Amino acid sequence: MSSESSSTPRRGQLYVISAPSGAGKTSLTHALIDRLAPRGRTVRFSVSYTTRAARAGEIDGVDYHFVSMDVFQRMIAAGAFLEYAQVFDRYYGTGAAETERWLAAGHDVVLDIDWQGARQVRERAPEAVTIFIEPPSRAELERRLRDRASDDDAAIARRLAEADDEMARAHEYDHRVVNDHFDAALAALERIFAPAA
Ligand code: GDP
Ligand code: ADP
Ligand code: 5GP
Repeated sequence: MSSESSSTPRRGQLYVISAPSGAGKTSLTHALIDRLAPRGRTVRFSVSYTTRAARAGEIDGVDYHFVSMDVFQRMIAAGAFLEYAQVFDRYYGTGAAETERWLAAGHDVVLDIDWQGARQVRERAPEAVTIFIEPPSRAELERRLRDRASDDDAAIARRLAEADDEMARAHEYDHRVVNDHFDAALAALERIFAPAA
């Protein structure tokens, strides 16, 4: 029971993080993984499949697996997704096999997915810990989306409209973290992931 060298490692913990686009989910989860690593806590960031085009600087296989609609639909038919959803006008999904492989090997896994995906994961994996990251205000959310400079005006307008929809689901999550001051939000996430530390 206490043996770390047991041939069957402790199963990893599954975490789901959702947030309106621009709330700081990507920055916070990457910082969290960097913060936990030196403590020997290897948290894997699930790489989703998406039909959207890569943004400048995004790398296939690292940020996302960028696939065609045709490939995505064949993966749906093959039951290859733990969950998938249409977000904006694109499809996003979490590969079931890779997630299961990491969890079975004892690694904690973070899914950065939207509220529709979170609902599917709660059904299929009720032990998952779910976290919702909120921006301090809608005005600040808009400012961050513009500062990030990765979307044009039309895309930013669409993300803001979707943000209202996403934020209306915040109460469905186990934990809510407001990303006002980055370090404070990061500390709040650390307490959820490593309560004893
Ligand atoms: P950003 O969060 O604005 O940087 O944009 P992304 O393109 O990274 O994410 C777009 C949306 O897709 C967000 O709502 C994510 O939560 C959602 N998303 C990303 N990956 C997945 C996934 O594997 N499954 C589901 N259901 N949603 C995902
Ligand atoms: P998401 O993945 O939720 O879409 P990002 O992590 O890309 O969000 O963050 C959106 C933008 O806001 C980025 O330019 C990021 O550097 C910035 N940002 C994130 N957290 C904060 C914060 N606490 N204060 C100010 N800017 C932030
Ligand atoms: P973006 O296009 O800005 O990278 O992501 C848009 C939205 O899609 C975000 O809210 C993100 O959380 C969500 N998303 C990314 N990957 C997945 C996924 O695998 N599944 C689901 N359901 N949503 C995802």
